[in-house]
Amino acid sequence: MDLKRIQMKLESWMGLTGHRWKNTPNGLYSINLHRVGDLDKTSGDPNVYSCTQEQLSAHLAFLKTQFDIVSLNDVKAFVANPKMLSQRRCLTITFDDGYADNYDCAFPILQSHHVPAAFFIATGLIGNSVLPWWDKVAFVLKNSPLNQVKLKNWKHPVCFKGDMKLFIRGVLKEIKATGVELEQQIKELEEVSDFQGQYPTPEFMSWEQLKLMHQQGMTIGAHSHHHYILSALTDEDILFELQHSKHLLEKNLGINVNAFSYPVGNQSTYNDGVIEALKSSGYELAFNFRPGVNFHVDKKRYDLHRFPIEPNMTPADFKQMVSYAKVY
Ligand SMILES: [Zn+2]
Repeated sequence: MDLKRIQMKLESWMGLTGHRWKNTPNGLYSINLHRVGDLDKTSGDPNVYSCTQEQLSAHLAFLKTQFDIVSLNDVKAFVANPKMLSQRRCLTITFDDGYADNYDCAFPILQSHHVPAAFFIATGLIGNSVLPWWDKVAFVLKNSPLNQVKLKNWKHPVCFKGDMKLFIRGVLKEIKATGVELEQQIKELEEVSDFQGQYPTPEFMSWEQLKLMHQQGMTIGAHSHHHYILSALTDEDILFELQHSKHLLEKNLGINVNAFSYPVGNQSTYNDGVIEALKSSGYELAFNFRPGVNFHVDKKRYDLHRFPIEPNMTPADFKQMVSYAKVY
């Protein structure tokens, strides 16, 4: 256990988390979700679920009492004039990828709470039948008799120990860790699993649904085209990912797109080169997927932090996560 976790545990036993929570700094807080619904019912990757519909409603009810919920337009105003944040604790709600449950399950809940949200879309998944690689991997594993998987370039095998969600997470982690092309690894996984079935229909939003959400006050941003890890691409491919996704969203929805969220979003997935490409492609701000409170939003406009919403998270869990976060 690292020092920070020991401190968190100790202070929680001593009843100090509440004190810390009350003293969390002013600034911009941002939360990130992926899928909303029942993770036991999906044929894809259960690890991309953030919460159920009921839990989303409970989260929003709680967050509304603690923060000013703001839109991405407000965030742009803060970037232009950071002083606006000095006396406020604001929070912006974001969703990544573009799953259909964002429209079917999350959108009605957001509307019933009268709060805006931003949806960052991987455009290669919209309006076609492309199943993303993580959902393919999950589907193959769920339909495979294997209790252990090891592909050629992996250092260690991943074993099934009774929890399918953890098994899938372990395999995805190994796939991401080797530098081998994703499609090639999926092919190999299909072979070792003796998979000959058909993949299920992908569950992503349509252009019409995105348009409707935008008309109803939601913001649409880009999340690349192919959802590749940008830091691993050539300069030319990075520009394609940023510009093509922006172009498709603007053309199909008739809107201006100037906000981005990095695919995967941890520190190793973007760098100064990616940020320069965002600037030259006309983006004004970008979100990562690392916890933290945003204060110097003008200087950090291409590196805005977000807190994850995890399944079964309680207000106490949320308070603890946020109370110990770094301020950027
Ligand atoms: Zn994503």
